[in-house]
Amino acid sequence: MPRDSRFDILFEPVKIGPVTAPNRFYQVPHCTGMGYQLPQTLATMRGIKAAGGWGVVNTEYCSIHPSSDDVPHPFASLWDEGDVRNMAAMADAVHEHGSLAGTELWYGGIRSSNNLSREVALAPSSFPAAESPWQCAKMDLDDIRRFRGWHRAAALRARQAGLDVVYVYAAHTYILNQFLDRDMNTRTDEYGGTLMQRARLLREVLAETRDAIGDRCAVALRIEVDNEDGGGLDERAELLASLAPLVDLFDVTIADYSQEMGGSRFVKEGSLEPHIAHVRKVTGKPVVSVGRFTSPETMLGQVKRGIVDFIGAARPSIADPFLPRKISEGREDDIRECIGCNICYAHNSSAAAIRCTQNPTMGEEWRRGWHPEQIAVAKQREQVLIVGAGPAGLEAGLMLARRGHEVKIADAGLSAGGRLNWETKLPGLAEWARVRDWRLHQISKLSNIEIFRDSRMAPEDVMDLGIPHVVVATGSRWRLDGRGRSFRAPIASYADARILAPEQVLATPVTGAAVVFDDDHYYLAPAIAEHLARQGAQVTYVTSAGKVAAWSELTAEQHRAHARLLELGVTVIVNALVSGLRPGVAVVSCAYSGATREIAADRVVPVTSRDGDDALCHALKGNGLASLALIGDARAPGLIVHAVYAGHRLAREFGEADVTVRRERPLC
Ligand code: ADP
Ligand code: SF4
Repeated sequence: MPRDSRFDILFEPVKIGPVTAPNRFYQVPHCTGMGYQLPQTLATMRGIKAAGGWGVVNTEYCSIHPSSDDVPHPFASLWDEGDVRNMAAMADAVHEHGSLAGTELWYGGIRSSNNLSREVALAPSSFPAAESPWQCAKMDLDDIRRFRGWHRAAALRARQAGLDVVYVYAAHTYILNQFLDRDMNTRTDEYGGTLMQRARLLREVLAETRDAIGDRCAVALRIEVDNEDGGGLDERAELLASLAPLVDLFDVTIADYSQEMGGSRFVKEGSLEPHIAHVRKVTGKPVVSVGRFTSPETMLGQVKRGIVDFIGAARPSIADPFLPRKISEGREDDIRECIGCNICYAHNSSAAAIRCTQNPTMGEEWRRGWHPEQIAVAKQREQVLIVGAGPAGLEAGLMLARRGHEVKIADAGLSAGGRLNWETKLPGLAEWARVRDWRLHQISKLSNIEIFRDSRMAPEDVMDLGIPHVVVATGSRWRLDGRGRSFRAPIASYADARILAPEQVLATPVTGAAVVFDDDHYYLAPAIAEHLARQGAQVTYVTSAGKVAAWSELTAEQHRAHARLLELGVTVIVNALVSGLRPGVAVVSCAYSGATREIAADRVVPVTSRDGDDALCHALKGNGLASLALIGDARAPGLIVHAVYAGHRLAREFGEADVTVRRERPLC
């Protein structure tokens, strides 16, 4: 398909200081959980983004000196010649496709605990270092001079590595932002005082970076347009204008990271626009900003209305590294849209390479040789039956069909989608349906795959079909007996008509006192509590963790999830277990002391753990099938990301005798 000419503007080259981006698609610096430890994994992944049409591809935050490390969180580094060589591999991979490569020079200040280097962290004032109970040192004027030298040296190494865009990083509460912050910078020397005085170090670093590398590299500034309390817009605008002569590109955001990085449950596409719309005019320089943009129309609107020069993306480029190419080729309907689940971020936060719910190849480009748009055609065409059309079955079916196999998917439900069909009807989760819808749309384009709905398969039905290869992707069910991380044995009193399965919540009117017991710690229990509260029930949310949706701290959603329940008047009880039911009440035990109390309970929804539905697979074993596989939640109940990955991997490895998984060790 030819490109829709309306989108031509997105493919115009744009000058950024001494370099020119081939188009307006700009992958902003984003964490990968790979950092300096996985240079080939990183270079291959970034190279694929360039191949997919991103005109500028940046690294994650890149430490300039050992006195700023973020261990256990993976970060890039430009400390020495070894780092230069590794960084050059990334730059080469990006240049191969005509894109610009950039890096974001980083110094943590109060946000470095320096577990790796054991150096004392340095900051404008002494505060606890990151999450640790020790503090960083207040920089004296010699420290500041040294810091400037380290920054300049790292900028020179960035240029040596062949990078085209080098960031001065004054956002996200790292050191240059700490100097700007009136609460963190209480200095009485020339680096403290009014905002313009607090910006002295930033101005010096910008000037020195420009002086060192500005002839060949663009100097980008990542900065917030407001301050911690969301205010100070006019003052900040004045600051941005004053810095503009030193800057080739403004990468702008806001101080509220939970909005910038907001999950789709709480924050919608393009949410930064009202905050950053003035920056282009105020600075007269090119501007990039993010907004989880996946709609070409929204991107077009942003550029046409003069909000930004570049469409900034982290998550959309993770979910679909080929997003720009798809627009360019008139294939907008093929874009694998980010669902805003922040599972990518959760893995970086867990010190692991990022993975993606929508894009199972993310992080596997080098290790397994997976490409987001290419899959090897099978040497021999086979017939495959998949039982279950949830995320695992749909992904397996789509990819097997793309490999050329003859695929049938049978599902008991009236519509395909499995768990997505009910979960995405819970408050805030609608965008997650893209996992189902993208796959169904792609399947509809192929002639060698068919989905049979309303088709519950017993073992004999499977055997009657005579299809030699069977994949069982029958999903899982939430346990009703209380078993999970807190209770290993069933709770006898849970055998009670008031127990309501999570799967049945949407189909069951609930009034009166409802208790949701969250032993799972992610999105489901809070979303159910929210749904019930919105239906008018008096909801008590009890969790064995210390906060609502504790695991979603890793997805940057915990704060908002907790606040949402409080706003809705839900009673929140933390560090507690629903240890039993008695007539009219639930028994709540303190997780520490075991002390019990009773709360009214007309309904109790246990969100504890699940049983994989593997009975069909077991019944089919030994029946002479050519192959039989059990995947997804049926094998090990997990997140949607795990199910999609399991389906994808099954398809990649189906019929392959040799599967190579490379292990990376840092190059130097
Ligand atoms: P996953 O996340 O692993 O893909 P889901 O629970 O989302 O799992 O999907 C499993 C799907 O399998 C559901 O749509 C369910 O209707 C279907 N299913 C379960 N058992 C059978 C069966 N015996 N025959 C056909 N479909 C089944
Ligand atoms: Fe988007 Fe989720 Fe993929 Fe992250 S993991 S890029 S939020 S779909």
